[in-house]
Amino acid sequence: MRLDALLARETARFGAEHPRSVAMAAEASAVWRGGAPMHWMGDWASPSPIFAERGEGARLIDVDGRAYDDFCLGDTPSMFGHGQPAVAAAAAQRLNQGAGFMLPTADAVTVGRLLAERFGLPLWQAAVTASDANRAVIRWARAVTERPVILVFDGCYHGMVEDCLVTLKDGATAMKAGLVGQVHDMTATTRVVPFNDLVALEAALEPGDVAAVLAEPVMTNCGMILPEPGFHDALRRLTRAAGTLLILDETHTLSSGSGGYVRAHGLAPDMFVVGKAIAGGIPAAVWGVTAELSARMDAAQARIGPGQSGIGTTLAGNALALAAIKTMLAEVMTEAAYARMEAGAERLAAGLSGVIARQGLAWSVVRVGARVELVFADPAPKNAAEMRKALDPDLLAALHLWLINRGVLIAPFHNMMLVSPDTADAAIDRLVEAVDGFGAALKDLAA
Ligand code: PMP
Repeated sequence: MRLDALLARETARFGAEHPRSVAMAAEASAVWRGGAPMHWMGDWASPSPIFAERGEGARLIDVDGRAYDDFCLGDTPSMFGHGQPAVAAAAAQRLNQGAGFMLPTADAVTVGRLLAERFGLPLWQAAVTASDANRAVIRWARAVTERPVILVFDGCYHGMVEDCLVTLKDGATAMKAGLVGQVHDMTATTRVVPFNDLVALEAALEPGDVAAVLAEPVMTNCGMILPEPGFHDALRRLTRAAGTLLILDETHTLSSGSGGYVRAHGLAPDMFVVGKAIAGGIPAAVWGVTAELSARMDAAQARIGPGQSGIGTTLAGNALALAAIKTMLAEVMTEAAYARMEAGAERLAAGLSGVIARQGLAWSVVRVGARVELVFADPAPKNAAEMRKALDPDLLAALHLWLINRGVLIAPFHNMMLVSPDTADAAIDRLVEAVDGFGAALKDLAA
């Protein structure tokens, strides 16, 4: 049996087992372009979207009444589990008392303190999404340094952020393929280098025109690519020497530990961004800066003069978001929760390594705290150019649909698996068993 035959069989099985989702998808197509409120919802490996009914901890139940072990967790917003009772109670109370004042509430004082204590940066601002926060920090970095260029790593994703929608093509910065309605040439003001390539990084900083390097501490949007030993020290040293700000986007690497990757590894960014999980699924993000940078921002503002900054949106920092962030930081994202996530992720990584050994696959497992990635290459690639070769779209589609049909959800596009504090060992074992079955099926195909 070839891979497309396996896919056809799994596609038929999905249709037979999800009649309500399939029917809703047909109805939704009449009123939502692409059949769902956001087109990514149609980008899963299933032939049509699974319509979710509810989430309970690390489980998701769909409109057909089928239950899944959810290792996608909304692609991170629900990393600490769906339907957190403390967040639900705080949000309900806030909604009853009004959520949108464009004024701070008392929660703001508490949240600011909790963020500073946890992540180590003293001064904060709120945004609605991580995309939104990244746009703000890029603008500020350019304002402060009076430099035009942003440097990112090949394979990066920082959200709906124009400046970052670039890639390396034949060694040069290029616009990503497929961008819709893009009229600005980002290659004029964004430079891209391979991750883990300090020679290229130093050369790209050398002209002295780079306002900031914007990076995830571990690349998590092109498979998962770990920094090589010494990379972060060198990144900090080189950015400082070049007068370039360092922005670390911890939206995904918040999986590393209670203080993010920066605290777990003693990093010292000038700016820090985190979104998605920080408000337990309610849209919110925050960004923090050092005291020194904050003073430079004041100076830049004074230099620019009065008027409209062009940074900010109406709903940023709203009372509902602040109530949710406070509850997440104080009651949900605890050391005990992280200890459970860490133990579960270790179990998952060990289980997947066992599958690889048992089935004789040339794959590997990469992990950053509670985030585990199964990579179709061994050893795991050190940059995006190598990783792209491993991201076989047919193999990904087949694995993902295989897992869906066996009651397991993992995030689309690559093999990211998130372990929440609510993820049971039995759920982890079911995922490992399903991947094992897939590995065995692949062996049969090859036979
Ligand atoms: N930063 C990183 C590292 C991300 O992975 C993402 C989304 N995957 C974002 C920012 C953007 O988040 P959002 O789509 O919630 O704005």
